[in-house]
Amino acid sequence: MICDECKSRDADVLQPHTGKRLCKSCFLKDVQRRVSEEAVKLGVTKASKVLIAVSGGKDSLVLADTLAMVIDPKRIIAFNIVEGIANYNREGQVKELNAYLRDLGIELISTSFRDEVGFSLDDMVKSSRERGLNIAACTFCGGFRRKLINQAGRNVNADLVATGHNLDDEVQTVIINLLRGDVKKLGRIGDLPFKLSDKFVMRIKPLRRIYEWETTLYAHFKGYHFQEVECPYISLRPTMRAKVRDLMYDLEERSPGILLKILETYDSLGDQVRKESKLPNLPSCKICGDPTSFGREYCKNCELLISSGLLGGEGLVQGEEGEAGKTVPYSGRTLE
Ligand SMILES: [Zn+2]
Ligand SMILES: [Zn+2]
Repeated sequence: MICDECKSRDADVLQPHTGKRLCKSCFLKDVQRRVSEEAVKLGVTKASKVLIAVSGGKDSLVLADTLAMVIDPKRIIAFNIVEGIANYNREGQVKELNAYLRDLGIELISTSFRDEVGFSLDDMVKSSRERGLNIAACTFCGGFRRKLINQAGRNVNADLVATGHNLDDEVQTVIINLLRGDVKKLGRIGDLPFKLSDKFVMRIKPLRRIYEWETTLYAHFKGYHFQEVECPYISLRPTMRAKVRDLMYDLEERSPGILLKILETYDSLGDQVRKESKLPNLPSCKICGDPTSFGREYCKNCELLISSGLLGGEGLVQGEEGEAGKTVPYSGRTLE
């Protein structure tokens, strides 16, 4: 079978949503073109600096690779957070990531929950369990990840923060919000989300029109060595997302391209919601200064630490074991 695009090389991939058979090279070009179009639409070419969140997983590697073709890699800064999960965070992982990004001409800033928050993810989960709380590891991880990525974006004066969410991730979130009836979140995703606070750097997802199987194949064709070990906390994750994912795969198999259509419908709804609403700036958390929801004194992250016994009053965290009584400033704090 010959490639439908170049009509010269043998086809390696069937792309169900277009019905095309593509060779390796035309497939890579197709993904690059679609990421580039989305990135331009999201303002990447106008930004003087873009922070990209990288985990070392396949999506973040594809994001770095494709964005480096859209703008000068010197205008991209990669940001990585080591969660502090035993048997998952590997020695040498950051080094590999750094070498890979250096080849692309992208600078890497790497930090950890321990350095920024004062505790590793394992510490947070352990402490909350000791208090008899049932807070999922993903709640800590997701919340602090968002917070630190946004902070890093502010620190390097980035105009945009880009994450590696793909089409499957994005549609899962859309469907979950719809199932939960979460109208407020409707405007928060979509191609050009609300900016509810001046303290939020605008977040974009340049891979949001690329199927997950496409990012996997792209990474495979490029010969990336990416983190393939599953996070040990994943089996403890709420099952809603997993169920929605199965439903989506079923739909997509019956009507190829339906995920893209769901996303397009959703984006146009988001546009209308944005046109019709004007929301005031969010209030600031009394502890760390980051934005929080209306009617709240503390942000969700600080509340998590307080309820887990890791954060006392006055924005100070209790020190590590062995340093009894010593307190360290919560590094997420902005002094205002
Ligand atoms: Zn071809
Ligand atoms: Zn806070």
